[in-house]
Amino acid sequence: MLYLSIPSLLGYGMKKENIDLIFQRFFENKPHPRIELDYYSPYTLLIAVVLSAQSTDKGVNRVTPTLFEAADTPVAMVALGEDQLKQYIKTIGLYNNKAKNIIAMSKALLEKFAGEVPDNLNDLKSLPGVGSKSAKVMLNCIWGHKVIAVDTHIFRVANRMGLCRTTNPLKTEIELERVIPKKWQDHAHHWLVLHGRYVCKARKPVCARCIVNDLCCYKDKNL
Ligand code: SF4
Repeated sequence: MLYLSIPSLLGYGMKKENIDLIFQRFFENKPHPRIELDYYSPYTLLIAVVLSAQSTDKGVNRVTPTLFEAADTPVAMVALGEDQLKQYIKTIGLYNNKAKNIIAMSKALLEKFAGEVPDNLNDLKSLPGVGSKSAKVMLNCIWGHKVIAVDTHIFRVANRMGLCRTTNPLKTEIELERVIPKKWQDHAHHWLVLHGRYVCKARKPVCARCIVNDLCCYKDKNL
């Protein structure tokens, strides 16, 4: 028996060729998108990603330069200690908990991974403070894995456009990895995040200057 509806085969109301066209346009508009967190090594990105949970990238980028001057390796971070670390990150939301996790995570890196950030999902997820989304951001940004870490922007944009019709981030991730052509999956995460952050905004999408507004399936476009 066939359980899938016909629209679900292609991405809910959007033709396969239109999905390809959307990412072709994202590519032409920004061929080399990158994460907006500042970093210069796997460890510094991991710290920035942990700090960015429920905080803005701009807020994180304000504190990391001085933090990384003081500690940009697991050894230096453990030596810095939780109380000192809090002083560097106290403008970031949930900083008490994040400081605790960063110290525990740095110790785990030293004890289990010889101080190196692991390059696979399970090992990354085993680190304190590192969930599935953060682990996938690391895999995509550092090692170029074709994975899509679904955050609030991607969830909203993908459902508005009609790339998927989903009710939670995990289902969204599975659906996006199914419908987005593999050739675009290196950068799909960044393109969708940036589109959600600057164009397809939560409260009022700027549809009039959206480069894919002719392909988008959203019924309430703001044109
Ligand atoms: S047309 Fe509007 S709703 Fe559709 S993707 Fe663009 S900004 Fe978002």
